[in-house]
Amino acid sequence: MHGDIAEVLFSAQDIHKRVQALGRQISNDLAGREAVVLALLKGSVLFFSDLVRSIDAPVKVDFAWASSYGSGTTSSGQIHLKVFPEGDLRGRTVVVVDDILDTGRTLDTVVRRIREEHGATDVRTCVLLDKQARRSVDIRADYTGFPVDDVFVVGYGLDYADRYRNLPYIGVLKPECYQS
Ligand code: 5GP
Ligand code: MG
Repeated sequence: MHGDIAEVLFSAQDIHKRVQALGRQISNDLAGREAVVLALLKGSVLFFSDLVRSIDAPVKVDFAWASSYGSGTTSSGQIHLKVFPEGDLRGRTVVVVDDILDTGRTLDTVVRRIREEHGATDVRTCVLLDKQARRSVDIRADYTGFPVDDVFVVGYGLDYADRYRNLPYIGVLKPECYQS
């Protein structure tokens, strides 16, 4: 597993520090208001579980699963919400958490639906990584952990073919591991 990583970009300690800072920023902005923190499965679960523990404000948690009908290392662009949030989001403040903002299509679609179909009034977005160079939809996250170059990364929840999510750090996957 570790041998498939070309370079470690963010160590477990880098991630921990940054997530604590994001939690403080979100707590300040919420100013005591209750929010629903919504994790996009599966990629954001590790980030999400650390993030909610760093938020010092009342929160509820919920989950959604967006898939992009893709395989390999690029998304197909067609976003499909496979699992819907369970709770009632009407009139609520929602913080949508995803692992990485790439083309922006996933987050853009989810935010739109949470607002328009689920009736949330205040929707904010929090991503651990931002791959700005690949953006095709005009969307910026309200909270970003780290910017990353246009490389394929795995670890701390991010996968390739559902593997590597359990790496405690984030690293660049060696191209020979996904080019067959
Ligand atoms: P978007 O809709 O912004 O193009 O895609 C976001 C999704 O693509 C992320 O939630 C993630 O699942 C996947 N993705 C984009 N870049 C990477 C990457 O470098 N590594 C991994 N593991 N997934 C990525
Ligand atoms: Mg994802």
